[in-house]
Amino acid sequence: MAEQYLRCPNCGANATNHQNCEFCGSLLVRFVEKGIDLSKTTYMSDAEVFPGLEQELRNNLSLQRQYPNCFVETNICARGDGDILMFVSNKPTLNDANVSPEPQLFTHLYFPELLVNDNGSPLTAEQIYSKEESLKKMDAFKKLNCFSLFNQTDEPMFDNETGINTNIEHCFSINYGQDVTGAARLISELLQKIHGVTLSRGIDLETETTAVNGNNTHVDVDEEDDDGEWPWWYYVVAGLILLAISKLFF
Ligand SMILES: [Zn+2]
Repeated sequence: MAEQYLRCPNCGANATNHQNCEFCGSLLVRFVEKGIDLSKTTYMSDAEVFPGLEQELRNNLSLQRQYPNCFVETNICARGDGDILMFVSNKPTLNDANVSPEPQLFTHLYFPELLVNDNGSPLTAEQIYSKEESLKKMDAFKKLNCFSLFNQTDEPMFDNETGINTNIEHCFSINYGQDVTGAARLISELLQKIHGVTLSRGIDLETETTAVNGNNTHVDVDEEDDDGEWPWWYYVVAGLILLAISKLFF
């Protein structure tokens, strides 16, 4: 069988690797293979990309190279909000116990669909609302051009004791390879069109490095930048503890 060439939209070369162009590493060749007209998408420019995101993904990859036996996870929140909307990591599947053998970035989007409670009782009004919100977000996701690049798995989840099928986990995964530019463009679209985070609001980013040995040992990657100094909140917590102790005695 003759090799199939695709003209890479990023560098113009004839790519035979349809995951990421073998010349420039771009994931945009995947859209060409699926027949998607890129001129009608936001993936050809950085205009809709959240500032700082591409740099943080670059940082994630360099930490993966530096600490090959660690999970490197970048958490993304809307600015000023603690809820993690999405994460980018070197985990090939959502709950993987191992890291990708080579540095790569993955995202696993997850939309739970509640069915009944653990004891089989019907959902409360609040649970129905949360299920509908989750499915609405999944529908918004399915309308995006990048949706066809994701692999879908639908896992029915069962309660351990009763064996009741309580919910379905709709999970969508993508391996961006090492294309930080393409990943930043896709992730920015997901944040805006699924989660409603605007560019003017912005995002908070945090990258954590955790050893792959099951005991969640945090490698002190961030502390190295501080010349071994403790972060400010250590002093706050220590101060509060001292205050509490002094109240006990005086
Ligand atoms: Zn290319």
